[in-house]
Amino acid sequence: MRLSQFHLATVKEVPADAEITSHRLMLRAGMIRRLASGLYTWSPLGLRVMRKVEQIVREEMDRAGALEMLMPSIQPKELWEETGRWQKFGDQLLKITDRKQQEFCYGPTHEEVITDFARNELKSYRQLPIVFYQIQTKFRDEFRPRFGVMRAREFLMKDAYSFHLSQESLAETYAAMYQAYVRIFTRLGLTFRAVQADTGAIGGNASHEFQVIADAGEDAIAFSDGSDYAANLEKAEALAPTSQRPAPAIALQRVDTPAQKTIAEVSAFLKVSPQQCVKTLLVRGRDGLVALCLRGDHEINAVKAGKLAELPDESVLASEEEILAATGARPGFIGPVGLPDSIPVIVDRDAAVLADFVCGANVDGIHCTGANWDRDARVSRIADLRSVVDGDLSPDGNGVLHIARGIEVGHVFQLGRKYAEALDATVVDETGKPQVMTMGCYGIGVSRIVAAAIEQRHDDAGIIWPEAMAPWRVAVCVINPKNVPAVAAAGEALYQALSQRGIETVLDDRGLRAGGMFADIELIGIPHRVVVSERGLAAGTLEYRAREDSESRALSQEELFSLLH
Ligand code: ATP
Ligand code: MG
Repeated sequence: MRLSQFHLATVKEVPADAEITSHRLMLRAGMIRRLASGLYTWSPLGLRVMRKVEQIVREEMDRAGALEMLMPSIQPKELWEETGRWQKFGDQLLKITDRKQQEFCYGPTHEEVITDFARNELKSYRQLPIVFYQIQTKFRDEFRPRFGVMRAREFLMKDAYSFHLSQESLAETYAAMYQAYVRIFTRLGLTFRAVQADTGAIGGNASHEFQVIADAGEDAIAFSDGSDYAANLEKAEALAPTSQRPAPAIALQRVDTPAQKTIAEVSAFLKVSPQQCVKTLLVRGRDGLVALCLRGDHEINAVKAGKLAELPDESVLASEEEILAATGARPGFIGPVGLPDSIPVIVDRDAAVLADFVCGANVDGIHCTGANWDRDARVSRIADLRSVVDGDLSPDGNGVLHIARGIEVGHVFQLGRKYAEALDATVVDETGKPQVMTMGCYGIGVSRIVAAAIEQRHDDAGIIWPEAMAPWRVAVCVINPKNVPAVAAAGEALYQALSQRGIETVLDDRGLRAGGMFADIELIGIPHRVVVSERGLAAGTLEYRAREDSESRALSQEELFSLLH
C-alpha cells in the first residue's frame, strides 16, 4: 500500500471523552470514528487490524474442526419466548418491530438461533459431536457503553456452539476449544490467562474466561506465579491457614473505644495490628440476620458469601436499625462475643485461627480485647469468605497468587441441556431413542481484542502492534521524494522488493517532513520502520528501527531482508 493513496487520518489532539489509552490511541490513529453512543465506524486502517484478528480466529477454529456458518443478526421474538429470554435477557436486548408489527430483536448472542438450526438439522447421534461457528456483528444495549470498542453496543464476535449426546463428549470438545483459544491468543502475541470463571449453578471447570492482562481491565483476577492456576477474584479460593489456633493467653476485657468504629481506627487506638482484629458484618440471611467474621485486614467476597446456604445469592448488609434491634449496638461495635444465639456466626478460615483478638463488644463505644473463639465466642461454622490477596498461596499448591486486572476477550462455557431442553432439540441415540442434546458455547470478542492489544502494548508515541495484528509489518519512509528523484525511486524499489517477498509493507510516499512522518508511523504502531534518504543512498545503507527500540541502525538491503524473514 502506498500511503499517498490510502486514507490515513491521524490526529494530534487527545480526544477529551476518551478515558483509557486504547480508546485515545484508536481515535488518534484514525482507526475508529464514533457515530453514536457505543457505535463505531472502522476506518480502512482499523479494519485492516480487525481483519487480522478475525483471520487468526477463523484459522484456528477451522483447524479445531469447527464449521463456519452465518446466522441472521435479526431474530424473531417467538424463538426467544421459547427459552424465556425475551423477558429475562433484560434491557440489553434491542427489540424492533417490522412493518407488519411483528417483533424481533437484534441478536446479542445466538444460542436460540443455533439451537433452532440444530433441532431441524441434526437427527442422529451419528452427526455428533459437531461445532458450528460464525463471526458476526452483535448488538447489546449496554447499560454503560464506554472505552470505545472495548465496551461498545455494536461489536464483532466470534461465537461457536457445540452439540453432543454426552457430558464426556462435551468435555472433550470443550478441551479442544480451550486449546484453540490458547493458540489464538498466543498467535496474536498477547499476554493472557485462562481464568476459571464463576459458573453459578453449573460449577466445576465448566467455564473459563480468557483475560488479557492490562491495568485498564474491568475484572480482577488472581493468578499463580508457580503454575497456570488463574481464577476470577470472586472465585479464587483462599486456602485454610496451615497454622493451628494458639491457646488463649489472656483474659477477655472490655475497653472503651468511644469514637473508633473502623478497623483502622480501632487498631490504631488500641495499638494492635488489623490482623489481630476481627471484623463482623451482619447480613440479611434467608432466615434472619447472619454474622460473617473476617480478619481485620481481609475483605468479604460477595460471591463466596452468596454461596453459603444461610444466605441468599445476593446478600445485603443489615440496616443500622436492624443491627441496633438485634444487638443493642450500632455498626462499628459489633462482634462475635455476646451475640444473640439466634444469629449464626460464620467465621472465615483465617479469622478462625486467631487467638486473643480484638472485636466489637455489641455495646456502643466498647470493644473486646483478648477475645477467643469457643471460650468467649460461638463459631457456628468455618468457611472461605474472603477475597484472596497478593501473596496468598495458590490453591493448587504451586506458587503464590498475584492479583492483576484483566480484559475479558473470550469465554468458553459448558452450557449443558438448558437451551436444547427449552427448544426440544433432540437426536436419536444408539437405541433409537430421542435424547436432548448437550451444548457448549464459545465466544471471542474480535473487536474488543483490538483495543485490548493496545492496552497491553503502547508507549508515549502510540501503539506497538504485535506482528500478527499490525496493519502492515514494515513501513518504508522516504525522505524528500519530491525533490530527490533517486530517493523516490529507491523507496519504490525497496517497497516492491519487500512486497514481492511476501512482507506486508506500506510505503510512506506522502512527502511529509521526517518528524511528522515518523510520528504517524509510530502512532499507528508499525513494527518495523525503514528510512530511505539521500544520505543513506550515498552510504549504501538503510536506516532501520524496530518500533520497540529507541535507536536506529544502518543495515544493508540483504541484512534487512534476513531480519524480516
Ligand atoms: P462482559 O462481562 O465484558 O460484558 P460478557 O460475559 O457479557 O462480557 P459474552 O456474552 O461471554 O460476554 O460474550 C463473548 C465475548 O464478547 C466476551 O468475552 C467479550 O470479549 C465480547 N464482548 C461482550 N460484550 C461486549 C461489548 N459490549 N463490547 C465489545 N465486546 C464485547
Ligand atoms: Mg456483558
